[in-house]
Amino acid sequence: MSHTTSAHPTRITVARGDGVGPEIMDATLRILEAAGAPIAIDEIEIGERMYRAGHTSGIAADAWDIIRRNGVMLKAPITTPQGGGYKSLNVTLRKALNLFANVRPSKAYAPFVASPHPRINLVIIRENEEDLYAGIEHQQTADVTQVLKLITRSGSERIVRYAFEYARAYGRRRVTCMTKDNIMKLTDGLFHRVFDEVSREYPDIQADHMIIDIGAARLAAQPEMFDVIVTLNLYGDILSDVAAQIAGSVGLAGSANIGSTAAMFEAVHGSAPDIAGKGVANPSGLLLAACQMLVHIGEARAAETIKNAWLCALESGLHTADIYRDGISRRLVGTDEFTRAVIGSLGQTPRELEAVQYRPGGIKVQVADPAPVTKALVGVDVFLDWNEAGRDPQRLGAAVEAAAPGFWRLKMLTNRGVKVYPDGLPETYCTDHWRARMLPQNGKEARFADVLALLQAFDQHGLQVIKTEHLYTMNGAPAYSLGQGE
Ligand code: NAD
Repeated sequence: MSHTTSAHPTRITVARGDGVGPEIMDATLRILEAAGAPIAIDEIEIGERMYRAGHTSGIAADAWDIIRRNGVMLKAPITTPQGGGYKSLNVTLRKALNLFANVRPSKAYAPFVASPHPRINLVIIRENEEDLYAGIEHQQTADVTQVLKLITRSGSERIVRYAFEYARAYGRRRVTCMTKDNIMKLTDGLFHRVFDEVSREYPDIQADHMIIDIGAARLAAQPEMFDVIVTLNLYGDILSDVAAQIAGSVGLAGSANIGSTAAMFEAVHGSAPDIAGKGVANPSGLLLAACQMLVHIGEARAAETIKNAWLCALESGLHTADIYRDGISRRLVGTDEFTRAVIGSLGQTPRELEAVQYRPGGIKVQVADPAPVTKALVGVDVFLDWNEAGRDPQRLGAAVEAAAPGFWRLKMLTNRGVKVYPDGLPETYCTDHWRARMLPQNGKEARFADVLALLQAFDQHGLQVIKTEHLYTMNGAPAYSLGQGE
């Protein structure tokens, strides 16, 4: 289906989703149309029906052509069927379309909507593709599973630049980076370093860094102290839900997933099956996501008109059940009446709540390829599955030393990252997953052939190799972490 609202519209893809999805999408599109937002719509079907029809990712192959052609998508929430075999469509869309930035504003609308933090007004910009969400997991021994945390310089730079450009475009003054680089010095450390480098190019924006644990605690207790937060994928996932919750308004939060060639806009909440079909859902989350979309496609005036009308509707006290409070609200309304209240307020500006003004145009970031490095192989970490009685590091240490060809020496054994040989502590618990850090005897460079000879020797001596990690120097500096206690 295709509707056109203007002579020069931007084509967008619309998915009505499941549960309350069709109701809130209908309300949102009615408001967009009444405001004259210059968009044309191509509808696709995603979600439960597609899953049940055998599309394990919740989307049919031909829908991808429409999504890719239009580049901009407004998506209602979908229901992911319980049980195995189904893939999260959100993760699929983000990764397939390179939607690297997840932008989630959290704002309180006190005194018209009750909030424990009436002055909260922050935006979380979450890296959307990397980190533990690369989804590379393995079980390597009877006891041990692992996941690969991937952080790239280019991915970090892209999201950090996006955060600073966002701050500039939306008149925000401060960008706070949150990482755990006191522990993950290489991965989170890279993100933090890139943040420090990029922040120097934005002297007009205040920049600071917090360790994620204290940052999360401050966010929960004093969210009004934050402006823009930029962070890695997992931390951002958790923080943005905390922020949405403490703003008192999960039903009011929109979210944008931005890439360089595509973007997807949606409500933060899910398909709310408990209230689906009752006409009581709050359409605000999707409507605010649609406003983010309009700004993204350069229709800032339309976004302003709609957002200001929406603020007027909130002020009028006509509230859906999720935000209705005795003493604050004037009347309990359903989706349709709230939608009509927004449409009736088009062209007005709010009396008490701050009216919005957007700068037109999307945010573009450019990231250069990382500078080439001089890389030298200076050792290898060999991971072993070894479960002999007692799991005694002394015995494994002796076995590794006996097996290693003369080129190599054993620097240490670690178990779950802690040095246990030589000079380990008897208290340290050892599982069946060991790392032998092997260095060349002469302290010089190794060749790949030396690594292969080492692995062959281990295999011949009955040591079960499960994986290796090369130890490199990059431009002369060690590019690997030390063992705990090394
Ligand atoms: P939910 O967000 O759908 O609902 C949580 C609670 O909030 C429910 O009580 C619901 O009635 C209420 N609520 C949510 N949106 C509302 C609105 N617009 N107006 C009024 N009340 C609203 O979370 P859930 O119940 O955990 O998930 C339901 C389904 O949604 C699951 O299948 C889940 O996988 C899916 N989900 C989808 C998305 C998405 O598509 N982006 C996001 C989250 C969850």
